Parts: sequence; C-alpha cells; structure tokens
Amino acid sequence: MDILVVGSVAFDTVETPFGHGHEVLGGSATYFSTSASFFTGVRLVAVVGEDFPDEHRSFLSSRNIDLTGLQVAPGRTFRWKGRYGYDLNEAQTLETHLNVFEGFQPKLPEDFRDAEVVFLANIDPELQMEVMRQVKRPRLIACDTMNFWIGGKRDALVRTLDQVDILIINEGETRQLANEPNLVKAAKAILALGPKTLVVKRGEYGVLVFGEHSVFSIPAYPLEEVFDPTGAGDTFAGGFVGYLAATGSFTDAAIRKATVFGSVMASFTVEDFSLNRLRSVSWQEIEDRFRRFQALTAFEGLD
Ligand code: AMP
Repeated sequence: MDILVVGSVAFDTVETPFGHGHEVLGGSATYFSTSASFFTGVRLVAVVGEDFPDEHRSFLSSRNIDLTGLQVAPGRTFRWKGRYGYDLNEAQTLETHLNVFEGFQPKLPEDFRDAEVVFLANIDPELQMEVMRQVKRPRLIACDTMNFWIGGKRDALVRTLDQVDILIINEGETRQLANEPNLVKAAKAILALGPKTLVVKRGEYGVLVFGEHSVFSIPAYPLEEVFDPTGAGDTFAGGFVGYLAATGSFTDAAIRKATVFGSVMASFTVEDFSLNRLRSVSWQEIEDRFRRFQALTAFEGLD
C-alpha cells in the first residue's frame, strides 16, 4: 500500500556540537517520505516557495515519491532554525518561519484520495484535519505533532487525535500533551483521546509503544557517531509506517517489527547532517542493522 503524507518541506539551519548546516534540505514530510520510500511508494502533499531548487525536487522524485501534491506558492519555503547541545535529545528551536505554510490549503490530487495509509506529519493540526476530510476510507491514520502545536493549537489537536489510529510523539510532548509528568499515566490519558497506539520517542533512550493492553520497548541503536539528530523522529515514523504499509498488517507483532525498522532508519539519519546518510544508505545496510538490533535485544526466558 502506498502512503499519503502531509507535512513540511523545509530549509533547516542547524547547529550541533559537531558542526553546522545552513539552509539544508529538511522538513517533517521530507524525512518521512525518504525513509518510508525504502519500504513502499509515497504520495507527498506539501507546499514550497519559488526558492525551492529543482535539485531537491529531483532527489525526492528519484525515490519513489510522487510529487503531484507538492504545491509551489509565491514566497519563501518554510524555514526552521535549531540548536542542539551535548544532550542531543532535545532541539532548541531558535526560529520558525512558516512563510508559504501560512496560506497553505492542502488539496489532494483526485487519485490521492483513496489512500489506505495516511501519515499526518508535524504541521498545523487544522491542516491535518483538512487532509483527513479529503481522504475517502483510509485503513490506518498515523500522526505526529510537536510542542509548538500542543501549546498553540491544543483544541484543534485534540479534535485531530480523535480520528487517528497511531500517535507518534517524543517524551516531552507526551508529558506536555497529557499535562502529566508520569509517562505511563500520560500514555493512558492520551490513548483516551482516541489513538489505539501511542509511540513515545525517547531519543538515545529508544522507544516505548503503548497499546490498549500492551507496552513494548526497545533501546536506540548504540552508535559511536551521532552528528545531527534533526529528522530522527520523522525518519523513525517513515520506517515505522513504511513497514506497516508495505505489509498491510497492523497487528501487535507487525507494530513491534515496525518499531525496530523505524529505529534502524533513524539510527542512519543521525550519522550525518540533513538527509545525507539516507541518500547513501543501502537496503543491505538496513537489513544488517535490523539483525544487529535483534541480537542487541534478544534474551532467553526463565527456565
Ligand atoms: P524531528 O524529526 O522531530 O527532528 O523534526 C525535524 C524537522 O521538523 C525539521 O527538518 C524541521 O524543518 C521540521 N519542523 C520544525 N518545526 C516545525 C513546525 N513548527 N512545523 C512543521 N515542521 C517543523
């Protein structure tokens, strides 16, 4: 099954203790689509400005990403500027310039409306809702968001969550959204808002997946080289939803395997700036790391 994704396509300016990227290709939908495209076809709905170069467009379309829904609007492309300290788990946002996103009205091309799997990447929850209104009968809707929208558009976000199957957010956002410091209680409160599954991304500490009756957890892949965590969350979501869409199975077992694929994909993204590592990684490397992940977390039961 192909995936329909709506989200940001951006220029990011990022500082980490290890280097600096100026106006590099980024955005939630960009990382998501590139990662998911290793598993299945992706249909992208987003907006860019007139300053968006052909080179980025050709890269995305070379990856099995359908750009029919990528609008070009007068003005500048969305820009985000962030910084990470030695604790690479949380970005400090320095600047957010919505630019062409301010007037963006998602309009799905006719043949995108029958999408069976939808990912609402991190954008204004009102726009996420507008996309859900336009899709006919999706089998799975997954969604991301961030502190910017939890603080600024909580009501719209809660209405969005009512229609979503899987919410994928980070640990701080989980606590902020539920208004609850304890993660387990926070997860319960969020599941009560609608999603059947809550995936909590915990940076270098891994991922916790809360279902109605189960909890699953894996660590992050232990890496020696971490350069830039930007996009790790969206890349995780791309591997996670990509695997589910490719298999068409959304069972508990599939969700566990999807969590490992998401973590594998994210572990590559953080090894370099922007999408550089996702550009070079091969399917063979992805499978190898999946196996190492399995070895990392395998243990025997009680006698
Ligand atoms: P993450 O995967 O959580 O590291 O997300 C990083 C991406 O989110 C960056 O490439 C940014 O361009 C994008 N981003 C940052 N702030 C926003 C926002 N308010 N709305 C949409 N996208 C954003």
